[in-house]
Amino acid sequence: MKVVNFAAGELDLEPPPVLRETLAAAARNRGAHRYTDTAGLPELREALADRISRLSGVAYEPGEVMVTAGAKHALHLAFLALVDPGDEVLVPRPGWGTFAEQVRLAGGVPVPVATWDTGFVPTVRKLEERRTGRTRAVVLNTPGNPTGAVCPPETIAEIVRWAVRHRVWIIFDESYGELVEPGTDHCHPVALLPEARELTVGIGSFSKSFAVTGWRVGHVHAPASLVAVLKNMQSQTSSNATSVVQHAVLPAARGEVDGFVSDVRGILASRRSRVAAALTGLPGVSFDMPQGAFYFFLDVRALLGRGLGGAVVDNTEGLAELLLRRAGTALTPGTAFGAEGYLRLSYAIDASMIDEGLASLKKVLDDVL
Ligand code: PLP
Repeated sequence: MKVVNFAAGELDLEPPPVLRETLAAAARNRGAHRYTDTAGLPELREALADRISRLSGVAYEPGEVMVTAGAKHALHLAFLALVDPGDEVLVPRPGWGTFAEQVRLAGGVPVPVATWDTGFVPTVRKLEERRTGRTRAVVLNTPGNPTGAVCPPETIAEIVRWAVRHRVWIIFDESYGELVEPGTDHCHPVALLPEARELTVGIGSFSKSFAVTGWRVGHVHAPASLVAVLKNMQSQTSSNATSVVQHAVLPAARGEVDGFVSDVRGILASRRSRVAAALTGLPGVSFDMPQGAFYFFLDVRALLGRGLGGAVVDNTEGLAELLLRRAGTALTPGTAFGAEGYLRLSYAIDASMIDEGLASLKKVLDDVL
């Protein structure tokens, strides 16, 4: 059976040709196969510092930037460095499961902050309800996985003021930061409140914007004293991000393939409208329009406990399985993100697959109600 995969956490597109050529050239270059500086090639750190400064509006120096094997490793090092056993870290729920697991790996306690009734973004009121004397950090992931929600500037500003007041670190995961819908602002905490600089750890990635998830290259920007600690930890864990890959992403860091990213934004905007139009007619499914990343987070609670083509499903995993078997569509159950009653639909697939998948989803769901 053919399956339409709405579960992908990565773009279906090939990386920009320039990056593939630079990768091949680096592989041919005899000087590109050794360990690099632990924090990354100096020219890449410099280009990244410029890029982060340009995109965020906050001046960062190369000494405040480190290249890592993906944003995931950057996050892991940040939690290891900041969290002592028993420390609490506020993580969004629904949210990407890695945050909580990495907090646990560091000996900390992930404390979920519910965002269901606040447009899937955390608010100061919700954070304050969960803050204790052990609260060490808060995770701010915008645009968010799995919800596609973008935290509005005024909400970030309030969170940042709160974090500074209570000396709470801000783990700012902007891995999807360049994939926001036209007309939506993606704001950096330090641009909104300069005093937040000494408490902000910015996490970024080439994975999503340049379609190079498998290359494993991301980065972190933070106060130089913390970057020095992260560098020591990186030295003892992965040594450095892969040398040839660091060479390959230089043109991306230098802004030479920004055209690719704006094309991606255009493609995603049109797919998003296509999905939204098709979903609007689906019985039992409701959603907020995503403003970034490439996910819809579907509220399917109305479908649970009812007869669906002869079967009754009463939980989200059962529903996902039924949609896989009956409609040939793979969606990620919200339980992976701490959200029973929701399904994540990724639109990082081409338009014809979107049409095909949603048409067959509709056929199955039309039987229901
Ligand atoms: N941060 C978020 C919110 C993600 O969803 C992902 C991947 O799905 C990552 C980070 C990981 O990115 P990378 O491939 O750079 O490790």
